[in-house]
Amino acid sequence: LIILGIETSCDETSASVVRGGREILSNVVSSQIESHKRFGGVVPEIASRHHVEQVTYIIEEALREAEVTMDDVDAVAVTEGPGLVGALLVGVNAAKALAFAKSKPLIGVHHIAGHIYANHLVEELTFPLLSLVVSGGHTELVYMDEHGKYEILGETRDDAVGEAYDKVARTVGLPYPGGPHIDRLAHEGEATIDLPRAWLEADSFDFSFSGLKSAVINTLHNAKQRGEDVPVKTIAASFQASVIDVLVTKTMRAVEKRGVDRLVLAGGVAANKGLRARITEVCEERGITLTIPPLSLCTDNAAMIAAAGAVMYEKGQFADDRLNGQPGLELER
Ligand code: ATP
Ligand code: MG
Ligand code: FE
Repeated sequence: LIILGIETSCDETSASVVRGGREILSNVVSSQIESHKRFGGVVPEIASRHHVEQVTYIIEEALREAEVTMDDVDAVAVTEGPGLVGALLVGVNAAKALAFAKSKPLIGVHHIAGHIYANHLVEELTFPLLSLVVSGGHTELVYMDEHGKYEILGETRDDAVGEAYDKVARTVGLPYPGGPHIDRLAHEGEATIDLPRAWLEADSFDFSFSGLKSAVINTLHNAKQRGEDVPVKTIAASFQASVIDVLVTKTMRAVEKRGVDRLVLAGGVAANKGLRARITEVCEERGITLTIPPLSLCTDNAAMIAAAGAVMYEKGQFADDRLNGQPGLELER
């Protein structure tokens, strides 16, 4: 089974060829970060334009690197949503055109299913499992008892973790995307500022990060009024400590409640060194099998879309010519 995956939901144009659902033959990613940096975030119109310019080259490159042609490809899988509508449409239309021209089946993949399936490219998924999804737009605890079936146990009520990282980074004057910078600085500083942890209701698996973000802003503001200077690395370390504490504690509670012994980490923030270290430690203590994708598979890429698409192929979940970009697509279908 050879799947061509295409991903254009945000600011990465990516195409990939995956064999047998798990073996990456190519995974070409063109990032637009440099174009968006000076605006401090992703500008939708610029993102769409980049995707339009890049997508055909990236697909060609992915096929070339994999040493396959469209004749060898069994299906085209593309991110259907969620994401920026103009960005999604570029990938969806490229996929539709290719599938139609070459008479190949078309598969519409949920972007977060893709992030979860990045783990399947590393180690075969076994069920039941719990996935902690931490990305630029999502923070979710997802339970799965079989391939392609998702139950959301909890999610953020306001900011996503990655969003909180980027906002805090912006507040302290770090460039976009700020997550990796905060992560790096956190390791240089000490978490000496006591920042809030939003536990919410005792039995809730939901998250909230906007209060934490405000607490960081207030801390900086109050220090400034007193004429004090708080080192950025202290802010970074304290912020990261709060985030990791809540994420790991809630995840472990969900692991216990659902009685699973398999955990996977997914999304761009899974690249976070502090989170990776802490969750690895806790899983070792408790005998839980943990998978974390390598950095290149944590952030947006098309291999993860092809991997999730392969599962849908096996289940016969194909799209037709009405496939459209869906900015608010739900994971639980
Ligand atoms: P979504 O997947 O929810 O649609 P997205 O695709 O924009 O959102 P990803 O590409 O999965 O998000 O992840 C990008 C986010 O990950 C950014 O917010 C970025 O700051 C964050 N990030 C990347 N590396 C790290 C890191 N080392 N520590 C913390 N955050 C990080
Ligand atoms: Mg991105
Ligand atoms: Fe993503």
